[in-house]
Amino acid sequence: LMHLTKKLIEIRSMLLSIDQNDALKLPSIVVIGSQSSGKSSVLEAIVGHEFLPKGNNMVTRRPIELTLIHTPATPGQPAPKEYGEFPGLGIGKMSDFADIQRTLTDLNLAVPSSEAVSNDPIDLRIYSPNVPDLTLIDLPGYVQIASLDQPESLKEQIAGLCEKYIREPNIILAVCAADVDLANSPALRASRKVDPLGLRTIGVITKMDLVPPEQGATILTNNRYPLHLGYVGVVAKSVDKPKKGESTALVARRGERGYFGSHPEVFDSGSMMVGTDTLRRRLMEVLESSMASSLHGITNAVQLELEEATYQFKVQYNDRRISPESYVAETMDMLKLRFQNATEQFKRPIIRAKLKGMLEDKVMDVLEQLYWLDKRSPELGTIALDPKVTPDSVEPYWKHKLGAASSLLTKSGVGRDSTVLVADGLRTLIDSIASAEPFNYHPQAAERLIEFSHMILRDRIGVTSDQVENCIKPFKYDVDVEPREWEAGRERAVELYEKELKMCESKLGEIRTKVGGGRRLGSLIGYVKTLEERQKQREKEKAARRLEGAASGEDAETSIRAALEHDDSPESYRYPPAQILDARYAMMYSERLHILKLRLATLRSKRCKAGPQSETFCPEAFLNVVADKLAYTSSLFINIELLEQFFYQFPREIDTRLLYDLDRKEIVEFARQNPVVRRHLDLQERKDKLEEVMKQLNSLSTLRADPQPKPRRQ
Ligand code: GDP
Repeated sequence: LMHLTKKLIEIRSMLLSIDQNDALKLPSIVVIGSQSSGKSSVLEAIVGHEFLPKGNNMVTRRPIELTLIHTPATPGQPAPKEYGEFPGLGIGKMSDFADIQRTLTDLNLAVPSSEAVSNDPIDLRIYSPNVPDLTLIDLPGYVQIASLDQPESLKEQIAGLCEKYIREPNIILAVCAADVDLANSPALRASRKVDPLGLRTIGVITKMDLVPPEQGATILTNNRYPLHLGYVGVVAKSVDKPKKGESTALVARRGERGYFGSHPEVFDSGSMMVGTDTLRRRLMEVLESSMASSLHGITNAVQLELEEATYQFKVQYNDRRISPESYVAETMDMLKLRFQNATEQFKRPIIRAKLKGMLEDKVMDVLEQLYWLDKRSPELGTIALDPKVTPDSVEPYWKHKLGAASSLLTKSGVGRDSTVLVADGLRTLIDSIASAEPFNYHPQAAERLIEFSHMILRDRIGVTSDQVENCIKPFKYDVDVEPREWEAGRERAVELYEKELKMCESKLGEIRTKVGGGRRLGSLIGYVKTLEERQKQREKEKAARRLEGAASGEDAETSIRAALEHDDSPESYRYPPAQILDARYAMMYSERLHILKLRLATLRSKRCKAGPQSETFCPEAFLNVVADKLAYTSSLFINIELLEQFFYQFPREIDTRLLYDLDRKEIVEFARQNPVVRRHLDLQERKDKLEEVMKQLNSLSTLRADPQPKPRRQ
């Protein structure tokens, strides 16, 4: 039958790890008593080692779930080693009980003093051939008198914590000191509240050596406060000092035997329970029968929970099992696949078109700077239509201009700009993958993903932009244009101008509507023109006056005042300043429209259609061909130096930096970050554990079916 308790203790631990549902609890022994009643000494006497935190300032602040596991000695083999283990901490076995004591002290001190006590239990298991199979819960001792450095509410907090643990089905071990009147024992008082008949309370009377034997015996005879399970008297601590090489436990044991042995007439062992050995045996019996009587109820409860979990698993997940590993692997595969699909956007023709777009913008900037803003540019249109002007006889001014425009374009930092444009595209892609499901649940992984992809990009950007710049170098000096290329460039230039033309027209239209119609805009423009005229006139006068003034000795201030007075005409206020600004923009757009129309006429002329020899007259077609060549060359080298490298490295970095880097614990953490996966895993785990518990419980019922003395049943 000892086997039964051992099994049930195992099952109890498993049930505790499933959840804290009261229906799924097997009994444990809860140790309560006031401070200094000798609670720790009793527990240590049962274990046979000193391992509980010592000190006078409230050393037990958290419940300790103490599971004792008897490891039987096999004849002919060395005795099994004694050790303790904190399953919640994952720090492995501890064979030195001083280490266990230190760990418990640290765990208790980690509770902030503002909180004083915590409900979160410490799980401690002790494996030894010298302990019985027992589960004990050590609770903070009841505070009798609140001291100054303890919060007011401490007393209630401890009482509340104890109350929670002494509920059914637990067994209460009420520790009382022999030298304190039982009437004053907070442990007995608390127990009586929940177990008035004392059916599940054992009394332990400590410090028997501190009262006369007869007085001690009277307490144990169980008359004043009768408990069904009785009282056990112990001497848990000896007053003797241990000799060299002796453990305190050994000395205590000897002291206790000595004490009870020297009063055989009083402590007749037939009717009275004395000594730590008796206490252990009693606890084992009580726990065992309590567990045995819980067996039926717990089996039913587990069966119900298992049925519910199985049903939910079927309904919610169609019995599909997952593991953290499979989730991680799937996520990485999905990441690679998503990336793979996205690389379609980085195929060469697409990149080339993107780069061309960027370069066309540059071409427009160059044209604006060198041609549209040049007062002489209408001239270029006129000479283009004049058949007498040949490419050779054209003014050098225009030849230089074309050279300048071409080198402004080729020397604008094409290598860097085109590389950065593509790299930015990759960055945006990675950012969007990293912020989308499921990586939104995995912020650290997302961060690492971004980090290493940026690192690859940083590594490649310099090399790539140098390479591109190097390869477009020839275009900085000379560009050969084939007739076919020329025609394509000319057509594209026409297209772009038409677009620009539409844009200017629509802007102009917007302004027209804004100021209130074409007529109104016309008069506004007229007004701005007169203002400008007048301004010019005034500047001239001012200059003249300054000269005069300088000659006649008039000081500068007077001349400025004169100029300002002049400015005070009421006409300046005829239109609001915002409208004057609109008018100026409108003027700019119509000037632009004018020049664009002229340029379009040239681009469509016979002269321009003739071919590349007309480049001086049609810089737009020429620059477009240059832009096209630049885009072609850039895309070629960006593909080799940046994209191919990135596409090669990225999936490998996923493996080395995201996948292989994870240990089992991190894999579980990763998977559980995703709420959908977490719920799935939780339910699956719950079902598995319940199944395992059920299996164990079933094996127990066959064990119980043996023709052995069965536990009493109601
Ligand atoms: P706790 O606060 O309830 O855990 O009490 P402890 O186990 O720390 O014991 C309080 C004090 O009583 C300590 O100084 C122990 O040495 C002493 N003590 C505990 N049990 C006995 C005992 O059976 N006999 C004697 N003489 N002293 C004891």
